[in-house]
Amino acid sequence: MIVTEEKPLEEIMSFLGGHKKILIAGCDGCDQPPRGLREAKSLALLIEMASKLKGEKVETTYTTVIKQCDDKIAHSTLSPLMEGVDAVVSLSCGIGVQVLSDVLEDAPVFPGQNTMFMGSEEREMGTVSERCAACGDCILDLTAGICPIARCSKSLLNGPCGGSQDGKCEVDKELDCAWQLIYDRLKALGRLDQMEEIMPAKDWSTSTHGGTRRTPKEMMFMDRPRRD
Ligand code: SF4
Ligand code: SF4
Repeated sequence: MIVTEEKPLEEIMSFLGGHKKILIAGCDGCDQPPRGLREAKSLALLIEMASKLKGEKVETTYTTVIKQCDDKIAHSTLSPLMEGVDAVVSLSCGIGVQVLSDVLEDAPVFPGQNTMFMGSEEREMGTVSERCAACGDCILDLTAGICPIARCSKSLLNGPCGGSQDGKCEVDKELDCAWQLIYDRLKALGRLDQMEEIMPAKDWSTSTHGGTRRTPKEMMFMDRPRRD
């Protein structure tokens, strides 16, 4: 799941200044809160009203794309609508915004949303929490199946830090300390000796620390060998 939230209208208006014909592109992909045709239409109306209040005449148009992160779908859906358009606002995650920037060469593409995180799990009703930061070199085998990259506020590999108090994180008292969770789980599994092993420096080249990541597309769809 990719989680996004709408940017405030004032922020959107701040980067649209001077543009006269704006296309709002919703996205129907993923499980993010819906940001499809209805949301694109309402943002288009809000932009027109806000422009009117500022004494500017702005024309908007809107549509939605099945999957903005697919360059062919994005291109075939949006290109026919680009005549006269001098700015696009995307209601997708950051990936979709970047795909549109690639395939729509003649107009700037602005993000209508903030991408909060991905790879999450719903626990309490209406709340999602990040469980994986897609580091590309999973170490869950060493941490009792609990990810310190996504769940420890400092992404510590050898925790806990000195701020862990009563099982809670010093950064946010509402948060369980990930390393306390790892400790508890290892204890329950009878593997506490693992806590004494110093985890070596992680290979961050597989995460975004190594620059933009690239994956051969066929790797994403191939039948992977079963591990059992
Ligand atoms: S170690 Fe990396 S791949 Fe594994 S759960 Fe954590 S962030 Fe995700
Ligand atoms: S208190 Fe725990 S979760 Fe918070 S930063 Fe320290 S080790 Fe990480």
